Amino acid sequence: MYLSIKGLSKSFGELEVLKDIDVSVEKGKVLTIMGPSGSGKTTLLRCLNALEEPSGGVFTFEDGFSLDFGKKVSKQDWLRLRRKSGMVFQSYNLFPHKTALENVTEGPIIVQKREKNQVQEMAERLLAKVGLRDKMHLYPHQLSGGQQQRVGIARALAIEPELMLFDEPTSALDPELIGEVLGVIKELANEGWTMVIVTHEVQFAEQVSDEVLFMDGGYIIEQGPPKQVLKEPKEQRTQQFLQRIL
Ligand code: ADP
Repeated sequence: MYLSIKGLSKSFGELEVLKDIDVSVEKGKVLTIMGPSGSGKTTLLRCLNALEEPSGGVFTFEDGFSLDFGKKVSKQDWLRLRRKSGMVFQSYNLFPHKTALENVTEGPIIVQKREKNQVQEMAERLLAKVGLRDKMHLYPHQLSGGQQQRVGIARALAIEPELMLFDEPTSALDPELIGEVLGVIKELANEGWTMVIVTHEVQFAEQVSDEVLFMDGGYIIEQGPPKQVLKEPKEQRTQQFLQRIL
């Protein structure tokens, strides 16, 4: 078990978005989260990446690091949580005035203060890995959406996270560009990365996931192996959702 979460809740003012969620992330496995818009999927990922502060709940990592959001969390623990995961955003979120390469080196050099030459080499290797060896000196506006998202993946990998998080990584892409991004994610899954993916791509989810979790209204409604949840869902809300998107 890489991470165990118990009783995760998150409210924005009066609005309770995550309601007492228990979820575990297995080391080297892919957990996919599906569910209708507004069900809390992005908020859950953002809590994992320390972009949102949970209102309650306990995170326990395999290395013994534990965080109880029922209490005040120290700045140090907060940063430690943030460093554990790399996030790939729906809208890429690249710096527009930096090249692909600079987008990838920024975090390790500026935030992690790692040695510049080493970071440069690693970034070039990562960009080659996502198929962008020839494009590393181009700016985001010179790249297609699929290429920008592959830079986004290289950038998340560059901070050497233990956990990779993907928030609807292909939903902003034209259909013909989706495959190249999903291909990179599949490769990472095959390499044994621990990943949590929010996606509406059912076929992809079936191929890549070890477990699928279906959310609605801030709750986990159903979870299990992809074949079961996607092909033979037990819950009516899961069935209806899958019918709508398939
Ligand atoms: P999903 O990713 O499943 O579409 P989200 O996690 O983005 O769902 O959103 C869940 C709910 O939380 C929605 O009702 C959304 O409007 C609300 N929400 C998300 N972020 C904020 C925020 N920063 N402030 C207020 N409400 C928010």
